[in-house]
Amino acid sequence: MNSNEIEIHKELKKYFGFSQFKGLQEQVIKSLLNKQNTFVIMPTGGGKSLCYQLPALIQEGTAIVVSPLIALMKNQVDAIRSLSSENGIAHVLNSSLTKTEIAQVKKDITSGLTKLLYVAPESLTKEEYVNFLKTVPISFVAIDEAHCISEWGHDFRPEYRNLKHIIKQLGDLSIIGLTATATPKVQEDILKNLDMCDATTFKASFNRPNLYYEVRTKTKNIESDIIRFIKQHKGKSGIIYCLSRKKVEAIAEVLQVNGISAVPYHAGLDAKTRAKHQDMFLMEDVDVVVATIAFGMGIDKPDVRFVIHHDIPKSLESYYQETGRAGRDGGEGHCLAYYSYKDVEKLEKFMSGKPVAEQEIGFALLQEVVAYAETSMSRRKFLLHYFGEEFDDVTGEGADMDDNVRNPKTKTEAKADVVQ
Ligand code: ADP
Ligand code: MG
Repeated sequence: MNSNEIEIHKELKKYFGFSQFKGLQEQVIKSLLNKQNTFVIMPTGGGKSLCYQLPALIQEGTAIVVSPLIALMKNQVDAIRSLSSENGIAHVLNSSLTKTEIAQVKKDITSGLTKLLYVAPESLTKEEYVNFLKTVPISFVAIDEAHCISEWGHDFRPEYRNLKHIIKQLGDLSIIGLTATATPKVQEDILKNLDMCDATTFKASFNRPNLYYEVRTKTKNIESDIIRFIKQHKGKSGIIYCLSRKKVEAIAEVLQVNGISAVPYHAGLDAKTRAKHQDMFLMEDVDVVVATIAFGMGIDKPDVRFVIHHDIPKSLESYYQETGRAGRDGGEGHCLAYYSYKDVEKLEKFMSGKPVAEQEIGFALLQEVVAYAETSMSRRKFLLHYFGEEFDDVTGEGADMDDNVRNPKTKTEAKADVVQ
């Protein structure tokens, strides 16, 4: 290790208490410290935040961190403050602050105390803030959840499109963009829209070797099929995703009637019930949560043993995120999706009410899901290829962990499935 390396390891220990960097963190941090534009693609839980937090803490000036969710920013600010004796080390700048609070934030930045300033993209459009930020030393700009800049991402935020323009006004600053969305299209969009095609890109593997992928044809017996599956995994924790609230309620009820401890979770339930059901799942008072996609954001239950998709998801990205909640502890995670072309038509019909551009993207994303469901090749290879990653389906880690590899279909069977 050279002196620089010793230094950042020391700072890692000092601030975060970790003795080692995770994955590509060290290379990313060095790139940023070298004032290079840097692009980081790592799956959720990969440790992206530290890639900008550490460089911010050890450099002169304030780093601006753009993040789309206020709750997320608050969490991060609290976490950083707990590492220091100074509250002013990290701040959020947004419209909910009082005049006095804003004055305090400005004071802490001006005095050099604040190392991380979290802002929502819409706050950065405020002239007052931009004018202020022009007058203070900025170390770099971090753009978290950078996929929000792309219409091909799962969470497009038009305000992200203004970022480059605003950052340019602040000076010649290096940018670090971070995302867990790995499709080449989204990546290209991010680099283009942030005007950082010169960025050094760091991409971690998206392979989850301990997850088993399976697709079953959806028939009218789906409910008894699910019940049988859960009974084969007795006492294990699992999540069942459905597209509609109504379906969530119906499936939860069917499971309960059949002696499986299950609770529903969706945005139509009041906050108290939702929190209660989530806690019951985390505390293992129930085995199964039946949920719409509203469930799982920020949930970290390490021993989820299965994730079932009662209905196909809208994109392979959502599928990867949702199945990714299984097997966080490295133990088995069975990802079972039910597929029928009727569901695809339903989703298409649902999308036809949307603006044309959105519709086209929606259809294209859905076609990838269809191709995944209908493929007879290694599902892991298919998924990883979608994320721009090559996977060797013979020697790769987890190569035999899917239905197509374990029970290869004959050509006629594969065809028959498609026709069904
Ligand atoms: P991401 O934003 O990529 O989803 P986070 O930044 O939230 O991931 O980090 C996920 C978890 O990894 C956090 O609990 C964090 O404390 C932990 N973590 C990050 N870096 C390290 C490290 N070098 N060693 C151990 N744990 C780490
Ligand atoms: Mg993150």
